[in-house]
Amino acid sequence: MGGTFDPVHHGHLVSASEVMESFSLDEVIFVPTGEQPFKEHRRVTPAEHRYLMTVVATASNPRFTVSRMEIDRPGKSYTIDTLRELKRQLPGADLFFITGADVLPQILTWKDADELWSLAHFIGVTRPGHTLDRTGLPETGLSLLEVPAMAISSTDCRARVVDGKPVWYLVPDGVVQYIAKHGLYRPETARVDDVA
Ligand code: ATP
Ligand code: MG
Repeated sequence: MGGTFDPVHHGHLVSASEVMESFSLDEVIFVPTGEQPFKEHRRVTPAEHRYLMTVVATASNPRFTVSRMEIDRPGKSYTIDTLRELKRQLPGADLFFITGADVLPQILTWKDADELWSLAHFIGVTRPGHTLDRTGLPETGLSLLEVPAMAISSTDCRARVVDGKPVWYLVPDGVVQYIAKHGLYRPETARVDDVA
């Protein structure tokens, strides 16, 4: 499951858990993006913070892991490169790529989009406020799954911190504490604690 995870929240975790159960997956690997080709217009939190929050959020689940692959790879993060690398690292594994309903239509614009479907089986999950639709997407290589509706987004979590509102219960407790400890998302906080 790829994402910016800025910050990781319970929408991500529930989606991963539901897909793991429905498709009998052995493991879900969360892959925080490095440089995001489609998010150049906004300031993304340093990758090391996003990686560590994802580690904190997934630590209690033995079948959730986090990969540094995209944050350690120089240049922009492309899913095709990640899937090729995973194929090399895990020969013989069946790869699945989990994505929310908002991202699904964008896949056709991704680098080497035609090839993506041969490297992994894509699973589109429902997300409140977005229609889960396979129009224009391949007949095979893609499944749609309804997951418990979590009307949570990282954008909203960041805005809540800016407004001094709580993010308790939207993100895991450890992530609430990590955000506070490092002063993330607060506009007045210079990013002097950048751990990257
Ligand atoms: P942002 O608002 O910064 O874009 P986000 O909440 O969309 O953050 P991302 O890191 O962009 O989170 O999303 C990673 C993946 O998780 C995407 O495929 C996205 O569609 C999916 N996703 C995010 N939130 C949810 C949710 N509440 N329910 C289902 N899927 C979700
Ligand atoms: Mg998003």
